This record gives sequence, structure tokens and C-alpha cells, in this order.
Amino acid sequence: MRALVTGGAGFLGSHLCDLLLAKGYEVICADSIITGNEQNIAHIKTSEFSFIKHNVTKPLHLDGKIDLIFHLASPASPIDYLELPIQTLKVGALGTHNMLGLAKEKRARFLLASTSEVYGDPLVNPQPEEYWGNVNPIGPRGVYDEAKRFAEAMTMAYHRYHKLDTRIVRIFNTYGPRMRLKDGRVVPNFISQALRGEDITVYGDGSQTRSFCYVSDEIEGIYRLMMSDYTLPVNIGNPEEHTILEFAEIILKITGSRSKIAFKELPVDDPKQRRPDITKAKKLLKWEPRVSLEAGLKETIKYFKAFQL
Ligand code: UDP
Repeated sequence: MRALVTGGAGFLGSHLCDLLLAKGYEVICADSIITGNEQNIAHIKTSEFSFIKHNVTKPLHLDGKIDLIFHLASPASPIDYLELPIQTLKVGALGTHNMLGLAKEKRARFLLASTSEVYGDPLVNPQPEEYWGNVNPIGPRGVYDEAKRFAEAMTMAYHRYHKLDTRIVRIFNTYGPRMRLKDGRVVPNFISQALRGEDITVYGDGSQTRSFCYVSDEIEGIYRLMMSDYTLPVNIGNPEEHTILEFAEIILKITGSRSKIAFKELPVDDPKQRRPDITKAKKLLKWEPRVSLEAGLKETIKYFKAFQL
């Protein structure tokens, strides 16, 4: 079996490449290295793995068969998509169209990495897959949210019209080794601030909530969805919900840091609550997260200390 992973040199993509290789797949990793990093795949030595530097907003032609396409390529951190608004729209729209075209040509099964951002600033908590969301199309986050919503629509159109075998995973906040220390998201920000003794920057009053999934759980859920026969979107994330202020306190406790909390301005359209309803994943995929927040954070802190501080 031969799999293509777009965004394969990114945080999630590189872990997915590792899992697929361990399961005996031949893996082709395509990445533009705009937000990905070749260091994330530098440890992979097997001849079953190949890397192509390619931006999927341009068509990709590959020789030979492809059985599975995992389409993960996109900036995914708010500061990245705010800095790269046009690229983010293009990769979600043109990139997804190109990869669906490749899947159709190869008759490959296609999985779209979608996001909890399709729910926008949700008025329903937790979010079930049936919820249509509350997205501001013209706000700064709209470039990511709408690109992913378009990508879902395009994937379903290929599924219905071209009878393509497709999957859609809605990925909720995920953390773990290989996140970039400077990618601006809350987990690397708080950990680096705590370890350096700098102020912990809580945006707004910290009452907004998030639910954090450890990377190994997320990747297992994505793989199980690809192996299932379910073609509608499935949430994969950890339903344990914390306010951001609570989360800052958890990081302070685990690191033993004496950093102070400093409140900063809340970014525009920052969702007030986010928690996946994972009833579907539990039932259809027999999946639920196994790694506790404390255990996952300890692994992540170890990684940042060893590689990035
Ligand atoms: N956040 C924060 N301090 C930071 C970075 C993020 O308080 O230094 C907050 C942010 O406003 C949001 C939450 O943490 O409410 C998660 O932000 P992140 O950028 O990780 O991803 P999001 O879930 O918003 O996509």
C-alpha cells in the first residue's frame, strides 16, 4: 500500500508518516516547507519513504499507484494564517482541488484534514458534527475557516459526483513534540514562557475554553477514520475542556515555574468555547483519547527542553 501525506513535514503530518511507515506503508511526503520543517522527518531513513518539496496549490503528478491520500497541507496556527492569508485560502481551495484531482486519477481514498474552526465561535457546546457553525467570513480567521469549509464542500462534491471514496476529519486543538516553539499557539507559548521565567500571556480574561488532544491520540483517530467506511465528517479531539486561565495554571504547576500571568488583548473572533462531541468517533471508530493532559504535557515539555529552548 502506497500513501501520500501532504503537509507531511509538519507537526501532525510527520507523526502520521511515522505511523504509516510503522504499519508497513510506502509513504510519499509532500510539503512546501512554508510552515513545515524538514527536521521533523530527518530521522526517517527507510527507502519506503520519499520527500517531495511541493506546494499543493500547484498540481502534483506522481508515477505509479497511490492507495491513500492524507491531505493535511495548510498553515494551521492562527499567527500563521493571519500572516499568510492568501496562501491559506489557496491551499484550502486550490490545494484541496488539486489533491482531489490526484485522488480521482489514481482512484485513491482521500482524507481531508478539516478543523474545529469550521464551527467558528460556536453557539453550541460541545460541538457535534451536525452543528453548522458560527463563522465570520470576513474576519481575520475567515481565511482559514472558510478555506476549510470550502475544502469540506469540495470533498463532498467529489464524493457525490465522482463517487470518490472520501473521509473528513475535524481536528481539534492538538499538541505534542514537533510543534514549533514559536508557532504562536497556546501550548508552545505557555511552555516556553514558563520555562524561561517570562510572563504567561493569557489573552482576554482567560475564560475562553479549549480541549487539548495529545498527538499520538489524534494520529490514531485520523488513521482509524481513514480505515473506516464512514464518509461524513468526524470530530477527533479530546473532550476534556479547560479555560485558558486554568490551562496557564496547569502549565505553571507541571513546570514548577514562578512566572506571573499577564493578561493581553483577546484576538479578534477568538472562539469563546471549544470542545468536541466525540460520540461518533467512539461509536464508529472505537476511538477515544488515552493520554492524560499531564502525561502529554510532560512529553511535550521534555521535547521543548531538548530541542528548541
Ligand atoms: N492564547 C493565549 N495566550 C497565548 C496564545 C493563545 O491566551 O499566548 C489563547 C487564544 O486566545 C485562544 C487559546 O489560547 O483562546 C488557543 O489559542 P491557539 O492559538 O492555541 O489556537 P486556537 O484554538 O485559537 O486555534
